[in-house]
Amino acid sequence: MDFKICTIGELLVEFLAKEHDQRFDKTGEFMGPFPSGAPAIFASQVAKLGFAVTFFSCVGKDAFGKMCIKRLKDDGVITDGIAIHNKASTGSAFVTYRGIDERDFIFNIPNSACGLLSFDHINEELLKDCNHLHVMGSSLYSFRVIDAMRKALDIVKSKGGTISFDPNLRKEMFDIPEMEASFDYILDYTDIFLPSQSEVSYFASNNQDSEQQIMSSLLNRGIKHIVVKCGSGGANYYGLDKQRQIYTLHVDSYTSEVIDPTGAGDCFGATFVSFMLAGYDIETALRYANASGALAVRQKGPMEGTSTLLQLQQFIASSSL
Ligand code: ATP
Ligand code: MG
Repeated sequence: MDFKICTIGELLVEFLAKEHDQRFDKTGEFMGPFPSGAPAIFASQVAKLGFAVTFFSCVGKDAFGKMCIKRLKDDGVITDGIAIHNKASTGSAFVTYRGIDERDFIFNIPNSACGLLSFDHINEELLKDCNHLHVMGSSLYSFRVIDAMRKALDIVKSKGGTISFDPNLRKEMFDIPEMEASFDYILDYTDIFLPSQSEVSYFASNNQDSEQQIMSSLLNRGIKHIVVKCGSGGANYYGLDKQRQIYTLHVDSYTSEVIDPTGAGDCFGATFVSFMLAGYDIETALRYANASGALAVRQKGPMEGTSTLLQLQQFIASSSL
């Protein structure tokens, strides 16, 4: 089936602390710049699978911006929707890993070129043949981007297109009030919902609700497919069968050596959404998405672990031996 995906949001460079438990308030060494930004990683992964994807963002007129655009172009992403601003620098993020499973960020997004992304950047001509929009919650960092997202959503929906939504909440972003308010709106239009396990309770209408109950009310609200990403625990799928009974499917993760977990969720989501749009069955889409997430954590750098279709096929084949 022919489809074209659109995504919108932050495009930035990331600097990665060299040491585990490296602090942000002490001088230390960082590796980078690495091209990054959740929707950018998503777009890279879709394009590397060989599917059409257009990305709307803003960078500064600087070497970081140039590097990010080149990287996405090389991966096959349509980059005509990325504006280059004279008056702001490309966004950036610093990341450090601590403890077993924790990660801290310092983001420079709303005050960078990404923060200027607005309604007017969403060029209808570029959206002409897009029939799917992927929304990253982390991209809803200002009222301007929310306006831009709504415009794209209205255009894609008015043509009968579909929407996927990954909340991608970061504790560093919790104090952005516009973001929270926009989640409810996006959920009303969401066809494929891709939260992390830690985000599920955020979508509960009642504190006592189990994961199953939360999923049930989201499905009854109109969402067609929900996949809860559980890191090394794999993923849980929820949908409704013909009798409108809840249908669940669990996949264990592929064992993987973890070098850098950032980006795994974005790769997983990109692969799941692409495979569903391409008409594969849910199990196949989950299997490939799971492989995509497993390969992502093996590479240092947020976008360095995106895979081609051939890499996924070879990984799945070698893992089932
Ligand atoms: P992020 O937002 O940081 O990109 P996420 O919370 O959205 O991450 P995760 O659940 O961490 O997403 O990872 C997505 C998927 O990647 C998992 O469901 C799993 O399939 C795969 N994955 C993640 N971590 C591992 C791991 N350690 N080993 C194998 N597979 C993994
Ligand atoms: Mg995520």
